[in-house]
Amino acid sequence: MADYPPAALRLVAALRKLPGIGPRSAERLALHLLSAPPGAAKDLAHALQEARNQIHPCPECGFFSEEGLCEICRDKNRDSSLLCVVEHAPDVLNFERSAAFKGKYHVLGGLLSPLDGIGPEELKIPGLLALAKKNRTKEVILGFGTDARGETTAIYLARELSALGLKITRLATGVAAGSGLEFVDSITLGQALSHRREI
Ligand SMILES: [Zn+2]
Repeated sequence: MADYPPAALRLVAALRKLPGIGPRSAERLALHLLSAPPGAAKDLAHALQEARNQIHPCPECGFFSEEGLCEICRDKNRDSSLLCVVEHAPDVLNFERSAAFKGKYHVLGGLLSPLDGIGPEELKIPGLLALAKKNRTKEVILGFGTDARGETTAIYLARELSALGLKITRLATGVAAGSGLEFVDSITLGQALSHRREI
């Protein structure tokens, strides 16, 4: 039985490794790229390679950066006394879009989840403590959801940060109990931030 030539099959296989792409979508994308003008595939390959080579986690906060510190860490007009801790780098953009936060961020790189084998060593907690000290942070906002992972992480971080004698707050109303942050819209997130509560 005839099939696509090997190079086309390799393209389909590579696309299938992307999140949310099943076999049919991978085939559709591959066919689109193969039938588009040669420049389209070249542009895509170039953009992919360029982004992969140039974008790295900011050494201070973990958000995306093209060179050295990210634009948020470089921004002198932001309030360094406020530090919002988030699970992943894209969460920073959720807070930025809410326009309700003008402080700094720290990306943990995950949340504690003992069942999945994610313990404190897997998270960037030393970086968080170092940044809070360096910035003379007055308030740490735990900017993640209230699901089991969020709760476990909040309790752990509150204990770790307690020695620094700063205020620790959590997002309030608007973030439904037991939910993660990925489905929260920016307006709700802004409200949850402005009504945050101390823990
Ligand atoms: Zn940064």
